[in-house]
Amino acid sequence: MKHTIGIIIILIFLASCSNQHYTIIRDVNVFDGENVLEDVDFVFTQSGIERISKKKKSYKNSTIIDGKGKTILPPLINAHVHVRSSENLKEAQKVGIFGMLDMFSIDSRANGLRVYNDSTAYSKFYSSNVGATPPGGHGTQFGINIPTINDTISPSQFVKDRVAQNADYIKITNEFSMSRLDTIQLKELINEAHNHNKITVAHISDLQNGLEVINQNIDGLAHIWYRSNSISKERDLNLLRAKEVFVIPTLSVIIKVINHANEIGLKDDYLTLDELKNEVRKLKNKGICILAGTDSPNYNMNYTTQFFEELLLLSECGLTEIEVLKSATTNIYEKFHLEEFNRLEVNRKSSFLLVTGKPYLRIEDIMNEKRIWKNGIEIS
Ligand SMILES: [Zn+2]
Repeated sequence: MKHTIGIIIILIFLASCSNQHYTIIRDVNVFDGENVLEDVDFVFTQSGIERISKKKKSYKNSTIIDGKGKTILPPLINAHVHVRSSENLKEAQKVGIFGMLDMFSIDSRANGLRVYNDSTAYSKFYSSNVGATPPGGHGTQFGINIPTINDTISPSQFVKDRVAQNADYIKITNEFSMSRLDTIQLKELINEAHNHNKITVAHISDLQNGLEVINQNIDGLAHIWYRSNSISKERDLNLLRAKEVFVIPTLSVIIKVINHANEIGLKDDYLTLDELKNEVRKLKNKGICILAGTDSPNYNMNYTTQFFEELLLLSECGLTEIEVLKSATTNIYEKFHLEEFNRLEVNRKSSFLLVTGKPYLRIEDIMNEKRIWKNGIEIS
């Protein structure tokens, strides 16, 4: 009897193996999130990546796709957006943006959007929920009723409330032109978030305000500084480096802010575009971790092609193609501890993009035609 059961189990196992359907992308280039492998066979099933190898191997039950002149990339993530509806998540997923980091949303909307997180057609939604701000601070200007840190809500309570509302990380605003939290409040917010193992991200527009939150151990900046006189010195960059702070430059939105200011005669309030790009170049040269994000839908920016525009802007600041691709993938997975996204390796999920061209040599190719697979299923 025991033997019979054993044989049956083996037979079931063999049957399930032989039924496995393989897809082989032949002679393709792979950017795995760190390195580039050229002209390899990339083999996957619905359960994961099976092989990435120069050696050819055939599989009984398989589909072959010609990968010549094409490149496989790991899931892209937009590190700064404000998601308005589930449609935004759908649009993003269609172009290969598998995750969207929302940087300020009321709790009810954020929780409404988290409902889509198990659906293949939707980009994974992460959010800070409401950001931490005082009365009259950044975030209060939209006329929506949001909690503010004042005499009634302490910074620690604010963090506890967000954690209870499923916030993935804590957003703090420190906007030059509006009311700001004081140093003690900033310190308490950041410490409490870290006690809950939450990453902290700050909205800033001025370098000094950035340094204030960095001195209180903020994990990252949601924008690079762009107000006039915000020209970083060597010691500022050394501080960012020493504290391993990441920066989401969001050049897409800042360029629009500066252009708009130029039109209405407020040019002197901001850096010039050359100065702005040079600040990003300085981050890169100092080895500070850069993450790609757009701040859509501000200035009516979309959730799709604008992200690719942002990657081109980062390359104009001197980032190599590999550095740009990392800013849109592995840098974000690591800094935000996104456990479900990984480098493309054997046994990992078969979620990736197949792009025509070689974006690791020519970043403009990121704009080209793409095919997208999520958990081994092609998204159309
Ligand atoms: Zn924003």
